[in-house]
Amino acid sequence: MKLTDKVAVVTGAASGMGKAIAELYAAEGAKVVVADLRLESAQEVVTGIEGKGGQAIAVVANVAIEADIQHMIDTAVEQYGTVDILVNNAGIMDNFVPAGELTDELWDRVFAVNTTGPMRATRKVLPIFLEKKSGVIVNVASAGGLYGSRAGAAYTAAKHAVVGFTKNVGFQYATSGIRCNAIAPGGVATNIGTSMTAPNEFGMSRAMVGMQVNPRVGGPEEIAKVALFLASDDSSFVNGTVVTADAGWTAY
Ligand code: NAD
Repeated sequence: MKLTDKVAVVTGAASGMGKAIAELYAAEGAKVVVADLRLESAQEVVTGIEGKGGQAIAVVANVAIEADIQHMIDTAVEQYGTVDILVNNAGIMDNFVPAGELTDELWDRVFAVNTTGPMRATRKVLPIFLEKKSGVIVNVASAGGLYGSRAGAAYTAAKHAVVGFTKNVGFQYATSGIRCNAIAPGGVATNIGTSMTAPNEFGMSRAMVGMQVNPRVGGPEEIAKVALFLASDDSSFVNGTVVTADAGWTAY
């Protein structure tokens, strides 16, 4: 087992990739905080983990709200004593809205969940990590965080910001035993993934997504394996970088 007795907080863990990551981490021996907006679904994930002999608790946390992030980290510490792994996975799409159609409201909402949430959660765990001189952060970014053509303007900008933040944190804390990496998934079969591949009426940005050759859509469990690598000592020399997992979608 690769994560024996590690305490992992996974945001957006009631569905999709977050659920798959929580389940795999628990199967590898971690105690997992399953954080999500949706308590009932998060609790179902916990019940599934417990049914396989794993340890997990569900926490309601909207990563766009600072007090919820504080509560999420406090709960992990109260329940399991510390945090060893933070997975900033919760995210929302922007419906492929191009820049000219953007509202401030959509921009702010996409940034609040996809970018400010990971920043605040990182800010909360860093003192814990610094004190024990160890800790791992895994940010679920996107192919949209590396390329300008996979989503709308807000999501693209928000995920690019996550990638930049990941590199900065990885570098800044490299000598403190802390690692911070990101995953850039391609199209993955989840609730969000459906909206990414759906036909659209917005022209350029949505149409371009469809035009580009996507070898295949991935499964959430394929991303979870990358997240396991990045959380475990198998990636001890990997820091401040982005691992693309997309079957070659962005390889050209
Ligand atoms: P999903 O919709 O299946 O799961 C997202 C989960 O996050 C849901 O359980 C939802 O309730 C939760 N969530 C949403 N807003 C939240 C908030 N404010 N606070 C807490 N939880 C919240 O989607 P997914 O595809 O598994 O997405 C996971 C991550 O992967 C996201 O960051 C997404 O941007 C990224 N991503 C997805 C794809 C894809 O094709 N599916 C590709 C690249 C990146």
